[in-house]
Amino acid sequence: MKTLIYKLEHLNLENEIFIMRDDLYPLSFGGNKARKAELFWKDACAKHADCLVTYGSSSSNHCRIIANLAAMHGLPCYLISPEETRKESFNCDMMNLFGAKTILTQVSQVRDTIDITLKKLQQKGLKPYFIMGGGHGNIGTQAYVYAYREIEEFEKRAGISFDYIFHASGTGTTQAGLVCGQILSGRKDFRIIGISIARKKPYGRDVVLQSVKDYLDSLGKMELFSDRLIEFVDDYRGRLWPWK
Ligand SMILES: *Cc1c(COP(=O)(O)O)cnc(C)c1O
Repeated sequence: MKTLIYKLEHLNLENEIFIMRDDLYPLSFGGNKARKAELFWKDACAKHADCLVTYGSSSSNHCRIIANLAAMHGLPCYLISPEETRKESFNCDMMNLFGAKTILTQVSQVRDTIDITLKKLQQKGLKPYFIMGGGHGNIGTQAYVYAYREIEEFEKRAGISFDYIFHASGTGTTQAGLVCGQILSGRKDFRIIGISIARKKPYGRDVVLQSVKDYLDSLGKMELFSDRLIEFVDDYRGRLWPWK
């Protein structure tokens, strides 16, 4: 599904600024997790999954969207969530309304709880489909390779070429997808700048870098990898953010 790109008028800035409205992505109130979730859903269908399993915090947009997807298609959904950081949120309310089953556990136990949950479902004869937190992984990256292509199509239609793409960077999948799109297109005439909403350097950037490598490797195109294209800015994070 494509989203709208248009120019922000009346800003009176020296720069011309355009916006891509992925917040309007037409699934479960939109956002980048919705764009990723659509591709995970296709993969889950191809694999004939009959329940969805993922993890995230009580305020996770990703978990809300996966719970919504499962409800839309009548599948059970299991969300593994750390109890230490649990607080009320609208996303949490919606996960419950969508009928997802939340399994609370300690942060240190999330990984084991995922394994146990998947095993239990399989023992019951179900075919669970597991999605990494935040829609991380090559499928999530692929979603933003497609978004990159939409941006290029827009440039062609509008007869312009962007100098920069700025976007919010968290788990790094959005950034990895945009960067892989750029790498695959062979263009070097603009920069992609991820503004960190959570992690610091070098960890935040390293995760993007690894995601770019994983994706190119899956295509057998590691020779295209370039470290230079990954620009991760951690100067605008909230002061109290606990991530490393
Ligand atoms: C997940 C999320 C991000 C970060 O996206 P990543 O692909 O994880 O880097 C940014 N903004 C919002 C609202 C999100 O939910």
